[in-house]
Amino acid sequence: RYVLGIDTSCDDTGVGIVELISSELAPDGVRVRANCIWTQTVHAQYGGVMPELASREHVERIDGVMADALAEAGLQVSDIGAVAATSGPGLVGALLVGLMYGKGLAQALDVPFYAAHHLEGHIFAAASEDNLEAPYLALVVSGGHTHLFDVPEVGTYILVGATRDDAAGEAFDKIARLAGLGYPGGPAIAEAALRGDATAVPFKEPLQGQKAFEFSFSGLKTAALLAHKAGAKPDDLAASFQRAAVHVLVKTTRRAAEAYGRQTVVVSGGVAANTALREAFNQTNLRVVFPGKGLNTDNGAMIALAGAAALRAGRSPSPLEAGATAYAPLANG
Ligand code: ATP
Ligand code: FE
Repeated sequence: RYVLGIDTSCDDTGVGIVELISSELAPDGVRVRANCIWTQTVHAQYGGVMPELASREHVERIDGVMADALAEAGLQVSDIGAVAATSGPGLVGALLVGLMYGKGLAQALDVPFYAAHHLEGHIFAAASEDNLEAPYLALVVSGGHTHLFDVPEVGTYILVGATRDDAAGEAFDKIARLAGLGYPGGPAIAEAALRGDATAVPFKEPLQGQKAFEFSFSGLKTAALLAHKAGAKPDDLAASFQRAAVHVLVKTTRRAAEAYGRQTVVVSGGVAANTALREAFNQTNLRVVFPGKGLNTDNGAMIALAGAAALRAGRSPSPLEAGATAYAPLANG
């Protein structure tokens, strides 16, 4: 009845536990019982994630995060009925820690093990709020991805469009650093934007590329740099950039939903935590589903939810030799 999920794809050690209540997926069929995260701080001094340090930190912290998750859920390790862990994409050394830990745990408990795709985890994070019945469109907006998928049926992902340069979250992070607003940039920009004037800095809408539903954020980044050099106030820059980014994300997704004939859109990944983005999506005539609180940025519960979905779909468990992969496209249709 309990599925444990582990994510160690980057610099967060996440362990989550979900309870299967009925045969449905969420919101009534599954409940998040624990979602514990250790966010690594060692990287701050380098201004970026150091892969080798990330792996070592995961090794040191994973036992503790696991104990916290069991305590939060009020469970013993023997209560766990299935284990899922991210196998990619991500930093290979970091992924291996969680993947090996998960396999070992499943082996010791003699329960099924599922290797999970990180992006599928981000999408299934929304299963905390909705039963995610296909078909739907899924927009993953995170630190490394701005990908739009069509999901005609459970487990099928057709790539509709992606960014041809920076990911949306990456643009938030870079512009926040440029404007001296701190790290992580997403929340810092969102906060500064509340005080700024969104019309102060003009951002041109990125030109429509050859491919219909492609995104681009490097132009906004360059425009932000120029505005910053010209003396734009950080708060105004934040508000104006956020408005431009939200606009292009919502507009492109709406067009894709229309083209693919989808009424439901799942918006997930770290940037889905953004209030302005949520408000803009909620004003469309689409049925928009977001992950619940604490499930937007990397976490273990979203991997447990993906594992629960695999279990429910009757997917056969992953072989224990399943390895970690840095590059792993989700698209399979
Ligand atoms: P990926 O999943 O693509 O491998 P990741 O795991 O590093 O990348 P996530 O943890 O999903 O990414 O998301 C982190 C990103 O989300 C960061 O770029 C961060 O700035 C952004 N983010 C977090 N909160 C907000 C917010 N409130 N508004 C905008 N962006 C946000
Ligand atoms: Fe992520």
